[in-house]
Amino acid sequence: MGVARYPGKTIDPYKCMRTTVRDGIAVTIAIRNAVRYGYIPFMLLGINGLAAYLAAHGASKLWLVVLIAIAVGCSFAAERVLPYRTDWNTPLDDAGRDTAHALVNETLVLSSVAVIPLLAAVTPFPSWWPESLPFVIQLLIAVLVADFGITTIHLASHKVGWLWRLHAVHHSVRRFYGFNGLMKHPLHQTIEMAGGVLPLIVLGIPVEVAAALSVCVAVQLLLQHANVDYHVGPLRSVLALNEGHRFHHLKWAGIGDVNFGLFTLIWDHLYRTYSYDPRRRFSSDDLGMAAKPHYPTGYLDQLAEPFRARGGCNLAGIKPGAHRAPARNLET
Ligand SMILES: [Zn+2]
Repeated sequence: MGVARYPGKTIDPYKCMRTTVRDGIAVTIAIRNAVRYGYIPFMLLGINGLAAYLAAHGASKLWLVVLIAIAVGCSFAAERVLPYRTDWNTPLDDAGRDTAHALVNETLVLSSVAVIPLLAAVTPFPSWWPESLPFVIQLLIAVLVADFGITTIHLASHKVGWLWRLHAVHHSVRRFYGFNGLMKHPLHQTIEMAGGVLPLIVLGIPVEVAAALSVCVAVQLLLQHANVDYHVGPLRSVLALNEGHRFHHLKWAGIGDVNFGLFTLIWDHLYRTYSYDPRRRFSSDDLGMAAKPHYPTGYLDQLAEPFRARGGCNLAGIKPGAHRAPARNLET
């Protein structure tokens, strides 16, 4: 390719190409930085904020489904733009199974929102809910109360044999990406959510606040498991996001029994289960369950596994004091 000459002007095509490539790289870096620093504010403040706005203004509950679908789409897009590991974006024959988990579990969550007015009607307690406070403050109160209940049930699920059977489905993952958050045994999800929502029902939570909360839970589960290399700085030790939650999915008993929080790590600090090492990098070899390397991978198999003999714990040979050991130490 030669240098084109025009009257009074010389155009170097190589220089044009270099400029185009340089501009392309600059745009790519800008987009990746936007995801690195803007993804969490966009999801936590943008999507959750929109949920609060719509719920406070009495919008049709269909927006719940739309907002959660948008959040899932954003999660997949961010994972393509700025992956923590590129290989975690490649399905391991798990895409259909994880979609089934997500559809079933989100349907359960949305159905439970619809049931809240019925439960509130039969609750014998007077309503202590601070309805006079601004809607966003009410939502923050709901998040903090639910965080305590869900975190505590989650911690118990790593200590109590029958709960671990159900929770093991969630820990069978071999790659860490957003949809993992919605990959749970529906019975375990129901128990975990009950731990978070029943105290709110006793307090008299309005259904609009519960509706916004259900979006916040879905968003949080996506963020916590996202294969996105986003940064939140020192907030990583307060917010329950993916940097801390990767430690929770380490496959070795005891080592992975940390960072149980859903929204925050406040309770992990109090329970002394907080763990973080900035030098730690993760791969698929670190994930799953060391005691159950051949855990079933099909959807229906995963639903049945907790009720099979091999899905339980060998309680016969437990020594005195072993009840304090994590339940997954007891797996056969
Ligand atoms: Zn867990």
